[in-house]
Amino acid sequence: MKTLKLYYENPYINVFTAEVIEKKIIENKYHILLNQTAFFLGGGGQERDFGTIEGIEVVDIYEKEGNIYHVLEKELNKIHKVRCEIDLKHRKDKMYQHSAQHILSGAFFKLVNRNTKSVHFGNEISTVDIEGILNEQEVMKVEDYVNKIISDNIVIENFVPSKKELKKINVRRDLPQTDDEIRIIKIGALDVNACCGVHAKSTLELKAIVITKFEKNKGNTRIEFLAGDRAVNYLLKREHNLKRICNKVSCGEEELENSIMNLNEKISDLINENKKITEQLVDLESKKLIGECEFNNKVESELNNREVNLISKVYSDKNIEYLKKIANKLCEEDSFVVLLASNDKEKVNIIFACSKNLTTDINKMKNNKIKKCNHTKKGYEVEKDIQDKKNIEVKKDNLTKGAEELNMGELLRDTIKLLDGKGGGNKVFAQGGGKNNGNIENAIEYATRKVKEIIKNG
Ligand SMILES: [Zn+2]
Repeated sequence: MKTLKLYYENPYINVFTAEVIEKKIIENKYHILLNQTAFFLGGGGQERDFGTIEGIEVVDIYEKEGNIYHVLEKELNKIHKVRCEIDLKHRKDKMYQHSAQHILSGAFFKLVNRNTKSVHFGNEISTVDIEGILNEQEVMKVEDYVNKIISDNIVIENFVPSKKELKKINVRRDLPQTDDEIRIIKIGALDVNACCGVHAKSTLELKAIVITKFEKNKGNTRIEFLAGDRAVNYLLKREHNLKRICNKVSCGEEELENSIMNLNEKISDLINENKKITEQLVDLESKKLIGECEFNNKVESELNNREVNLISKVYSDKNIEYLKKIANKLCEEDSFVVLLASNDKEKVNIIFACSKNLTTDINKMKNNKIKKCNHTKKGYEVEKDIQDKKNIEVKKDNLTKGAEELNMGELLRDTIKLLDGKGGGNKVFAQGGGKNNGNIENAIEYATRKVKEIIKNG
């Protein structure tokens, strides 16, 4: 005796009673065969039903020669009139997504003559892959049409025709090659297709179908969609978002697009204005720094008797782009070494840069000196009072290496250790960032001292 499937006739049954025909234990689980069931065992891409038999959870359902077995993890003692209950909310949700897919597939076939390649019903989003590449206009046309189909309240029929009748039915897709019975789902004049899934009784139950996204996928078009409560909730959420955005921009829905375009225009004007002001600021600041440098930080190279302008400064609340601009501006001229830093609450940024002529000149002279005098360089040692004051451990070897030549990258990598940071660069430009550990003044002072030393030894 085959199990009577109640769900095709009435997809809304959530409680029913049945007789236990057979009970067997396989791997400590109880397999229960019922005379009738409302538990859909899954098919056509639709997930199986969930629920209980006499309060015991059904963990699996399968069919064997027309008999439907319900798998339980606990023993079922009753055999007459056992009370079964399915999760109707879950069933309806999955059923509506599936019926929506049939409506969408039918509509794409009818309106743009494209058939369905594959379907997927997910817990949050479902997809239907339509053959070929579709454009936005085509997709929107179908979206409008399927919602009209919903409001037209079209009956969704499901039936199993005889083999003879089946030959006369014009189905959208080829029928499966099987001797088993073939179930047909017919949605008015829109769509006829073979399917073993459980469907709504009418299109109106679906409430709405929303296409949330469409994209190319392996030569086809993947349509993401929602139906039933999923679609309603999605639309409500969008509605709330829209209201919130309108309030933020202080305009009505109709003016929103224009308001956003106006805002974009204002923003780009402000950005341009800001650029100009920043350029002016950089110009002024550079001049100011050069002025200060004339009196305080000029370092004379002992060997070639030429002046090197050494500028170091710690800013607060300046971003790294600003520091870069200042450094680049100053180093456009010959003979500048610029050591800049900026701190905010969480981190510090540093930029070290020098004019191109300096690395060539000083390093060339340095090499010449080594060659000429066979000079063995003495290691650099941190002055004891400063070491004690700052309580900073810096390896003597690194310092020695850093003092060999004017190289901004090396100097920065060496200095940044004092800030627990990272960074790097080349001989003429380097940047880095570190934690604001209160050591920024010391770090810049340290780098300044090293540069002076390199230049003097150069
Ligand atoms: Zn189907």
